[in-house]
Parts: sequence; structure tokens; C-alpha cells
Amino acid sequence: MTIKGKAIFGAFLYAASIICGCTREENTQAKYIFLMIGDGMGASHVAATESYLSYKAGKNGGEQLTCTTFPVYGTCTTHSANKHITCSSASGTAIATGVKTNNNMLGVDPEGNPLKSMAYALKEQGYRIGITSSVPVNHATPAAFYANSNSRHDYYSIALQIPASNFDFFAGSALIDRNGADGDKETMDDVLEREGYDVCYGVSELKESSDTDGVVLLSPSQRSRALNYEVKYDEKDDTSAEVLQAAIDFLGENDPFFIMYEGGEIDWAAHSNDLNSTIESIMRFDDAIKVAYEFYLRHPDETLIIVTADHETGGIALGGQAHHYELRWENLDADGKDSADVSRDVNIGWTSDTHTGGPVPVFAIGKGAERFSGRMDNTDFYGKIVLK
Ligand SMILES: [Zn+2]
Repeated sequence: MTIKGKAIFGAFLYAASIICGCTREENTQAKYIFLMIGDGMGASHVAATESYLSYKAGKNGGEQLTCTTFPVYGTCTTHSANKHITCSSASGTAIATGVKTNNNMLGVDPEGNPLKSMAYALKEQGYRIGITSSVPVNHATPAAFYANSNSRHDYYSIALQIPASNFDFFAGSALIDRNGADGDKETMDDVLEREGYDVCYGVSELKESSDTDGVVLLSPSQRSRALNYEVKYDEKDDTSAEVLQAAIDFLGENDPFFIMYEGGEIDWAAHSNDLNSTIESIMRFDDAIKVAYEFYLRHPDETLIIVTADHETGGIALGGQAHHYELRWENLDADGKDSADVSRDVNIGWTSDTHTGGPVPVFAIGKGAERFSGRMDNTDFYGKIVLK
């Protein structure tokens, strides 16, 4: 085809895509929407985990997490309004509302004006809403979907916005500052119960609850792990997969639903440059993705799953200075070793103990998944998810 011919053909395709795009766009908002956010999960966190799984299978590569089997792949820029490198509240706000804000601000624009998240927009359309996290639900990323605050650290006033949201289901580990920063406020459990929410510690307690309106599911160990970046799993606590399944069961299949699920401890493990915990937290996050994927398989024409991250943490690299062309995963499980020694012995590099400014991956499957292909910015999610 000549260049002119190509141009005409291209124009024809473009016009056709506009015509088809308009009619299609109106009809492609899925009935069931899962937005899965791996806090701090860059492409190399995913790759390192798959490399480890491949090693376990006796191979150099080829094993896959659930999310990387999804047919649509994109890449997302994450800078905030005032920094090259975002924090979780600014990126959570960008994803949830479509507007960039400054680091440490939550659900407000840089001037402090409150913004409306996609969860509120979808609720107005009749969706039931679930905000779930493996860390406290008044931490930055989940909070960006229901709260407005000039500071992400005003944990108590953010928690008070849980019942004010009127959303159906919340889940996370114990709330940060549930008695206020100075411990002198009414405990959040009482506030939530008074406002009509059933507070359940663990999925087994939730199953005994007859409340169908509003539930806050908290981890039985009642730990708040936000402040020391510790990632220690407690046998008493439900797994990520169990919590997401509980959210699906609670919200039901009659009405449309939107579930935001955050794998929050990935970020904390990577802040600590703790390779063991980073890989374990990614695998737990993928276990939750598997639950969403199984739901998709039962409702493939009505379900959309998006998996992404708010930013990269740690600048993790597959290959450090210790060995040429080798990752020695057999050194990962060595007990009692300092986390820096573990990474060096495996030959994994880290460039930072905080966030980096690289793009993050986007994986999608289901109804409307094609909108998440290619390059995007974190402010684009809102318009790609909320179509009406
Ligand atoms: Zn972080």
C-alpha cells in the first residue's frame, strides 16, 4: 500500500473506531468491577516473584502469576502534582478521582478542595461498594476511595469518614489510631456500630452476622502494622483470598458491585528491602487476584478485573553485584540472615528504601479490558472505569 493509501486506510479505521467506540463505550461498563492495587508493586517485583516460582519448578523462567496471564497489558506513569516520585495518598487520589494532588494529601486537590472518588460515582449508579485492604483501611490507598483529608496522617478523622461514606463493605487489619492519635477519642468500633455498621473480627464472625447493610471486617489479631513496616503474618488472620471471597459473598451477585482490593504490605516489605516478605506478599496478592479471576470465569461477560500499582517501591532489580547472570534463589530461604544479606546472596539489587518514579504495570481482563492497553497515567483510571 502507498503512503497515501495507508493514510486513507488509517483515517477510515480511525473514523470506524470513533463510530464503534461511541456505541461500544456506552455499553461496556462491567456489572462487576475489581480494581486490585498492589501497593509498591513494580514490574520487577512481579518478575522477581515469577523468577522465584520458576526456580521452584526447576526452570530459569516461564512460571506466571495469575495477573500476568491476563490478555491486556499496559504501563502507567505515577508522578504526583508536586513531586517526581509519588506517595501512596497522592497516587491513590489520582487513581480514585482522576486528579493529581500533592504528596501526603488525600482525596483533595492541591488547593485542598475535596474530590469525588469513582467509588462514590459508582455507588450513585447503584453499585454496591467494597473497600478492602490487607493493611488498615484508613491507610492512604484504600482511604483515597472514601475520604478527603489535607493530611493522610489524620487517621482518626479519616476513619470517621468510613461510616459517612455509606459504602457497604470494608475490610482490613485493625484501624490505625482507632481511639484517636492521643487515645482520648471514642473508639472507632463504637462509632461504627452506632452508625449502623457491624464490626466483625474475622471471616468466621462475619459468617455469623446477619447484617446485610454495612460491615467492617477487621483482622482477628487486631494488629496495626502501619507504623513500623513490619510484615508478619498471623495464623489467626484470614488470608487475602479469604477476605476477598468474603467481600464477594457479602456484596452478592444481584446488584452490580465495585471492589477495590489493596495488597498493602508489598510496599512495606519493599521499604524494608526484605526480599522474602516482598515475594510472599506478592504471592498473597496474587492469591486474591485468583479469587477475582475465578469469579470472572463464572461471569466472563459482566466482569472486569484491573490489576495495577500506585507506584514502585525499593527500586528492586533482578541482578545485583554478587553473581554474574545468576539469581541464586536457593539462598532466599536461609533463616536468621539479615535481609540485606539475603538479597545480596540471591543477587537481587535495591536502589532505595522508599518509592521510585518508574512506571507500574497494568493487567486487565474482562468486559472493557481493552481500555487498559498501552501507556496511561494514573489519572486515566477514573475515566476508563466510570463510563456513565
Ligand atoms: Zn510506601
